[in-house]
Amino acid sequence: MAERPGWGFSTRAVHVGSEPDPQTGAVVPPIHLATTYAQAGVGLHRGFEYSRSDNPTRRALETCLASLEGAAHAFAFASGLAASSTVLLSLLRAGDHVVLGDDVYGGTYRLLTRVLAGFGVETTSVDTRSVAAVAAALRDRTRLVWLETPTNPLLRLCDIAAVAATAHRRGVRVLVDNTFATPYLQRPLSLGADLVLHSATKYLGGHSDVVGGAVMTSDPGLAEGLRFHQNAVGAVPSPFDCWLVLRGLKTLSLRMRQQTAGAAQVAAFLTDHPAVRAVHYPGLASHPQHDLARRQMIDFGGMVSFEVGDERTAFAVLAALRVFTLAESLGAVESLAEHPARMTHASVPAELRDVVGVGGGLIRLSVGVEDVEDLIADLDRALDVAAG
Ligand SMILES: *Cc1c(COP(=O)(O)O)cnc(C)c1O
Repeated sequence: MAERPGWGFSTRAVHVGSEPDPQTGAVVPPIHLATTYAQAGVGLHRGFEYSRSDNPTRRALETCLASLEGAAHAFAFASGLAASSTVLLSLLRAGDHVVLGDDVYGGTYRLLTRVLAGFGVETTSVDTRSVAAVAAALRDRTRLVWLETPTNPLLRLCDIAAVAATAHRRGVRVLVDNTFATPYLQRPLSLGADLVLHSATKYLGGHSDVVGGAVMTSDPGLAEGLRFHQNAVGAVPSPFDCWLVLRGLKTLSLRMRQQTAGAAQVAAFLTDHPAVRAVHYPGLASHPQHDLARRQMIDFGGMVSFEVGDERTAFAVLAALRVFTLAESLGAVESLAEHPARMTHASVPAELRDVVGVGGGLIRLSVGVEDVEDLIADLDRALDVAAG
C-alpha cells in the first residue's frame, strides 16, 4: 500500500507493502511462488523477470522494512548472515579493513575472521563503547565500522551518532546491526549510520518459525551495490519466508511493547535477588550507559543478561527453568534462556570472551510475551534450586 505521509510506525507495519490483492481483494498478500514471469515481448515485463532477481512477495516485505527503518531501500536475505555476507561482499575488496565491535554476534565475528580473512580482508575488534577506541582503530584501508547496539550478550551500547561522525570524517561507512533493538526502538539511519542490518529470524519474524535477514540504506550508491549483489550472490529468501516475516512485522509494535515491559520487570527482579551478582539491562539506572540508552533508544528492549558467579550455578539455573526454554536465538513470543559462553558465543575465542566479560556465570534471557508474573516466578524458583 502506498505509504501516506504522517502514518505512525504501527500503521506502517500493518499496511505498507500489504495492499489488498488487486485481482481478488484478499487483504493478505498472496505468496508468489512463480520462479519466472511471462514477457509480452523480449525484455517487456511488468517489473519481474526471475524470482532470484525480484519477487512480488519479497518486494512487499522489502517495502515494509524500508518504511519501518525510515530507509529509501531495503533488501531481504535468506538469513541474517546471508545479509551480512552480501553486504561485506558488496563493500570490501582484498586488503580492506573492518572495525568490529568486540562483543558482536559470534557469527559476525566468525564470518569476518574465518571466511573473509581468507580473501584478504582484515578485522580489528574494539570496545565500541569508546568512540576514541573506534577512531584509533581506523586505518587508510578501513572501509567499514560494524556496530551492534545494544550488544549481545552484555547489552552494552555504542553512541551511533558519535561513531558515525568520527568514521565519516575519514570516509568510512558505518553499519549498525539493529537486530536487538528493532526499528521500533531505534532508527540508526536517523542517527547517521549508512546501513542497517537485521537478523529477521529474531524480533522481526518474532515467532521462531522463519530464518531471514535484511539490509536497509538510504544511500543510492550503496543501494545499487546491494541490489547487484543480492542478485549476483543469490542468498535470497523464499517467498514463503518473506510472507512469514511480513506477517510477523504486523505485530512488531505489540510484541515489542510487551517484551520491553516484561524485560524491565525481570531486570528489576534480578537486581534485587541476592544470588544475582550483576544484571545487564540498559533500562536500569545502574547501567553505565543508561543516559545514552535514553537518548538513542525509544525504550530499552526485551533482552536481559545476568551473572550468577560461575558456570556450575549458571547450568543449574538453566536446567531448573520451566517457562523459559533453554535455546539459542531470541526475540520471539516465547521466553528463552541460554548460556552465551557455551552456546551462542562458543565461536568467539576464549581469550576474547574473557576480555569482553562473557564468562561462565553469564546467562542471557530473551523475554517473550508470557505473563511476566510467571516468568519472574520461574526465575525465582530456578535461582533457589541452583542455590541448593
Ligand atoms: C542471530 C543474529 C545474527 C545472525 O542472523 P541469522 O538469521 O541467524 O543468520 C546477526 N546478528 C545478531 C545480533 C543476531 O542475533
